[in-house]
Amino acid sequence: MFKAPRGTVDILPGEQAYWRYIEEKAETVCRLYGYQRVDTPAFEDAGLFTRSVGEGTDIVNKEMYIFKDRSDNELALRPEGTASVCRAYLEHGMDNLPQPVKLYYFADIFRYERPQAGRYRQHHQFGCEAIGEASPMLDAEVIQMALEFFKSLGMTQFTLQLNSIGCKQCRPDYLQKLKEYYAPLAPGLCDDCRARIVKNPLRLLDCKKPGCQAAAEAAPKSSEYLCEDCRDHFDALKTYMEALKIEYSINHRLVRGLDYYTKTVFEVQPLEGGSQSALGGGGRYDDLIGELGGKPTPAIGFATGLERIVLNLKDQGIEVPEQKKPAVFMACMGNSAKIVALKTASDLREAGISVIVAAGDRSLKAQLRQANSVGATYAVIIGDDEIKEGMVTLRNMVTSDQQVVDPEELKRILGTQE
Ligand code: AMP
Repeated sequence: MFKAPRGTVDILPGEQAYWRYIEEKAETVCRLYGYQRVDTPAFEDAGLFTRSVGEGTDIVNKEMYIFKDRSDNELALRPEGTASVCRAYLEHGMDNLPQPVKLYYFADIFRYERPQAGRYRQHHQFGCEAIGEASPMLDAEVIQMALEFFKSLGMTQFTLQLNSIGCKQCRPDYLQKLKEYYAPLAPGLCDDCRARIVKNPLRLLDCKKPGCQAAAEAAPKSSEYLCEDCRDHFDALKTYMEALKIEYSINHRLVRGLDYYTKTVFEVQPLEGGSQSALGGGGRYDDLIGELGGKPTPAIGFATGLERIVLNLKDQGIEVPEQKKPAVFMACMGNSAKIVALKTASDLREAGISVIVAAGDRSLKAQLRQANSVGATYAVIIGDDEIKEGMVTLRNMVTSDQQVVDPEELKRILGTQE
């Protein structure tokens, strides 16, 4: 028997109420903040991600699903959403539209990770990108939007962490300081961190290995090495956050796992669950569009994992609206009744009433049991007697009351119930 590949899950009908709920809240918040939906392909030229996410990152080095198609094109299943949206922004001339262009997406994301609770090889993200504006006002607004989204789901148990990791001007100096600080500590670090000192020093700060934590805690802080422009940006953002009464804590070790970030980075963390379990995160990426061949274009974005949100909603006991149950279950006995049942069901559906028709030759009792188990409000029963009279029996599944009605009356009664 086949099983779903390791690290992937089926989202079964019983789970869908959570997914629809999250998607609806996401759509609402996007409308309130003026974002428009974009959908991009599940795979892209692999180079798009190596160039944007960065050669030295875990995502590119260890986690990307990369393959050649039958024409020898090197492709990758998208390991994140931002690069694809930026590619689409450039490809479709959105740089000619009034800026910033505000886009949101739902996308399945593929990363060859070690599967565990809340960490999968295919997961789903809701993300938004505001492209073409450098003002920290936009940073404040994107962060606010992310928090409003979580709040609209009924979630309260989370915190916001904020940092600034500088820009092309100031980061090289900071990275040099980090390297100098870490060089003598190298023997005590994990293998990955020893490699990071040379390849990707920023990522030293968010190593999760216990042996590397103390070194990261005491490391030089990026916010203390910002150039004037980055410092002003960060200060202005903090002022806006205070004006909007958004609580945050500064986390000097917050650097994010992708190379394209500049200035502002942030993460939303659940109160319980540890650092592996960020609900969402984002930041500025002022150089990315330029690196993808566009003119220099500042931008900021945010993304969150839907699986983690579902886990969190369940942990917090947050109830989501049930999905609509079918209004009618159509029970029938005998061959002629089957035809009448199919026709009656078509008429009802045309009138916008949802119907499940019993198929097969089960007893009336078994059919009514099924009506109960699918949660139908009514059963319509058609047998020889009903056919002779040109009527149907309508049974209220909650009260068990039954009445014999003609098809027009049936439509009228059910139509007012939907
Ligand atoms: P990232 O693109 O790494 O910033 O991830 C954005 C969000 O996606 C995270 O905060 C998580 O909520 C979610 N996420 C990232 N990786 C995974 C994964 N492997 N499985 C499930 N959710 C994930």
